[in-house]
Amino acid sequence: MVRLNTHFKKLKREYVFPIIERKLAEAREKHPHLSVVNLGVGDIALPLVPSVAKAICDATQEMTTKSGMRGYGPSEGYSFLKEAISTVSYAGMIDPDEIFISEGTNGDSTNIQELFSSKNKIGIPDPTYPAYLDSAIIGGRLSKVTLLPCTEENGFCPVPPHEHLDVIYLCSPNNPTGVAMTRAQLKAWVDYAKREKAILLLDNAYEAFVTSPEVPRSIYEIEGAKDVAIEFRSFSKSSGFTALRCAYTVVPKALENGLMNKLWLKRQSIKYNGVSYPIQRAAQASLSPQGLKETKAQVQHYLEQGKILSTGLNQLGFSCVGGKDAPYIWWKAPSGKTSWEFFDEILEKCQLISIPGRGFGQHGEGYIRLSTFTTSDLAKLALDRLCALK
Ligand SMILES: *Cc1c(COP(=O)(O)O)cnc(C)c1O
Repeated sequence: MVRLNTHFKKLKREYVFPIIERKLAEAREKHPHLSVVNLGVGDIALPLVPSVAKAICDATQEMTTKSGMRGYGPSEGYSFLKEAISTVSYAGMIDPDEIFISEGTNGDSTNIQELFSSKNKIGIPDPTYPAYLDSAIIGGRLSKVTLLPCTEENGFCPVPPHEHLDVIYLCSPNNPTGVAMTRAQLKAWVDYAKREKAILLLDNAYEAFVTSPEVPRSIYEIEGAKDVAIEFRSFSKSSGFTALRCAYTVVPKALENGLMNKLWLKRQSIKYNGVSYPIQRAAQASLSPQGLKETKAQVQHYLEQGKILSTGLNQLGFSCVGGKDAPYIWWKAPSGKTSWEFFDEILEKCQLISIPGRGFGQHGEGYIRLSTFTTSDLAKLALDRLCALK
C-alpha cells in the first residue's frame, strides 16, 4: 500500500481565506445591497504598465521569425535579464552568475530548504509569510523549527536569539506587519550568522517599497552579508507581475566556498525549466529607464494609500504600524479583542474586509492586516467607513 506524506497533517495554521469568503457571503445575504471594500488580499490593484506589455508583445513577435524562434532557455535565466539586474538593481555589487531567475519568490524561498540537511535548526519569524513554516512542516522539519516572535516589544522585528540556529528566514519589509528592518537590525543578524556559522534567507519581495533612509534596499549593503546571506526578490509587487510570474534569487559565490551557488544551479537545472522568454524580456523592460518610471509611479501610488490609511487611523486614535516601507498596515485590535472579533466588527460596522493577523502566525493574534494595494477612491471610502468605529 502506498504511504502518503503524513507531515501534511501537522499543518495546524488556520487557513483564513475560505473563512473570510464564508463570512463575506453571510454578510451579503444579510444585506443584499452591501458594497464591500476589500483591503484583504495582498495582490496588485493597478493595470500592467505599457512598457512591460509592449516587451511581451515584441518578444512574442520576435519568436514568429526564423532568426528569433526560441525553445527552452537556460533554467537559471537569460543573461540579458541577469545582467540588467546586476547593473540596475545591484549597481554591479552582485555578479550575473550569482543571480537565478525563477517564476516566483514563493517557490524559491521554500525550495531553498532542499539545499540544507534536515538536521539544521531553522528560525522563522512569527508573524510572517506563512509559506516558510508550512513548507518546513511538509518537508518533515517541524521539530527543528524555532519561531522568532515579532511583537510590539521588539518593534515587530525578529531579534537574534541566545540559542544556536543554522538557517534563519527573514522577511523585510515584512508581510504582514509592513515593518522593515533597519541597517542596525540587519547587521545584528549578519553578525549572529557569522558567529554561529549560519545562513540567512532574506525574503525581500517588497524592496521597491522602502522609503525609510535607515532601511537598506538589500542585505548586501551590510558588510560581510555576502558570506552569510541569500536574498530573494520578485517582480510581482514591484512591477505588477503577480500574474506574469518572474522573480530572482541571489546566491553569492562567497557562501560555503561557492558550493551553495553550485547546488542551487544543480537543483534548478534538475527540477526547473525556466521562465518564458517574453516574460523575461518584460522583466528586463521593467528595469529600463521608462519601465522604472512607470513601475515606480505605481509603487508610489500604493505607498500614498498607505499614508492616507495609516494617518487616518492614527487620527481616529488607533494604533497601527507599517504602510511606509511596504503596502501593508498592521493594526492592533483595540481593548484586547482577538483578530477574528475585530475582523467581524469591521466587516459589520464598516463593510470592510481585512485579514486576521493570526492567519500569519500565533503572534499575529490581536491584530489585523490591511493591504494598501488599492485605488485612491477605495482608500478614501475605507477611511470614511472606519470612522464608524469611533
Ligand atoms: C507576495 C509575496 C511573495 C510572492 O512572491 P512571488 O514572486 O509572486 O511568488 C513572496 N514573499 C512575500 C513576503 C510576499 O508577500
